[in-house]
Amino acid sequence: MQIVKVTYIEVIRCRAAILWKPGAPFSIEEVEVAPPKAKEVRVKIVATGFCGTEMKMLKSKTLHHDRYPIIMGHEGAGIVESVGEGVSTVKTGDKVITLFLPQCGECASCLNSEDNFCKQLKQSETNLMSDGTSRFTCKGKLVYHFGNTSTFSEYTVINEISVAKADAFAPLEKVCLISCGFSTGFGAAINTAKVTPGSTCAVFGLGGVGMSAIMGCKAAGAARIIGVDINKDKFEKAKEVGATECINPQDYEKPIQEVLFEMTGDGVDFCFEVIGNPETVAAALASCHESHGVCVIVGLTIGDQLNISGHLFLSGRSLKGSIFGGWKSRKDVPKLVSDYMAKKFNLDPLITHTLNLDKINEAVEFMKTGKWQVAHTIFMSEYLGSRERVCGDRGRQWKESHSWRSHRQATEEGFRTL
Ligand code: NAD
Ligand code: ZN
Repeated sequence: MQIVKVTYIEVIRCRAAILWKPGAPFSIEEVEVAPPKAKEVRVKIVATGFCGTEMKMLKSKTLHHDRYPIIMGHEGAGIVESVGEGVSTVKTGDKVITLFLPQCGECASCLNSEDNFCKQLKQSETNLMSDGTSRFTCKGKLVYHFGNTSTFSEYTVINEISVAKADAFAPLEKVCLISCGFSTGFGAAINTAKVTPGSTCAVFGLGGVGMSAIMGCKAAGAARIIGVDINKDKFEKAKEVGATECINPQDYEKPIQEVLFEMTGDGVDFCFEVIGNPETVAAALASCHESHGVCVIVGLTIGDQLNISGHLFLSGRSLKGSIFGGWKSRKDVPKLVSDYMAKKFNLDPLITHTLNLDKINEAVEFMKTGKWQVAHTIFMSEYLGSRERVCGDRGRQWKESHSWRSHRQATEEGFRTL
């Protein structure tokens, strides 16, 4: 007798925050999430942060103007609900961190030990999965993916190369920050700048990523870490995570680079631009020591032009870019989670507010007004936070807590109107 194992995974209906058009608020909708195809995983998102990159996307009227409706979110952590054909590195029930920067392990960047810019990142530019289709539908319409991850949904489908397995006991509502903000800032100091013991550093922009850069400078043994922000409400937290002093450019008549030169004598050894503004990139570079100073651009300036005098480079300063803190995502993220579990760094100061997904538009307002001090985590509505639930009979629990229907029914309805 031949035994044939048939696995039939259905479409999941769940809630997601959808952007229907540029400039619109998020709308909480019921969406259909199709099963994962080959080399894909479907993840139940437990917690997700709101990154400065999302704010930029929301403000931009031009980026991805034709890719709506869309489910954003890229700083997430969750549990694998099901896996597609050929997935071998994670399984149902595993805790995972979502990765906007994949690691395929095969491209020239992945094979270069000094490089983390996996060529498969370009896949996210289509806002669709690798086969050119979406796994999301809402009200009969195709919904676009974002950042390889789309974490503002209770369930999402992600390529296997865009998830990293996390420690089974890791608190997902904290380690979701390793998915972007923490790793980006911390790694910019440790990996990209390679901050040296006893050095002087300056960090421009004290959001969640800038605060993490301060933590990285401190961990690397910097003697002096100067925080720079136009919002002085950030200073207390910056000092808590390691800044030795903080300054507000608006308190001075002269340019901030001159202020920093006066404070340090020769300029700073390492400077980080964590705002995403071409003018502050120029000021950050000009604040560096004229010969050995290193300035790292962390804030993204996609579409912006830098206007920097060649004179600044003449004596030897360097300007470097950094993506995801230079970490090789799949290889290094599990280690960062373990380091967090071993209390090598603390993520608590980076979480100032927690909200339910329903309140996502409040999060946007907080970020806009700067009332949101650092980074934040939005808990998904069904988050229970208990270890037992995570380690228990997951399949049964999920089936009980969700409405299910056939994949075919959903896809037929979903794509009829495209
Ligand atoms: P955030 O909005 O929380 O923080 C930005 C901070 O900059 C705020 O505190 C704000 O007050 C300050 N600021 C704004 N204008 C300023 C000015 N002119 N001078 C001094 N301070 C100023 O954002 P975040 O989540 O910390 O992200 C920061 C940047 O990092 C964003 O540009 C984001 O796109 C980028 N980012 C890059 C990567 C990467 O891989 N390179 C990853 C994540 C985020
Ligand atoms: Zn981010």
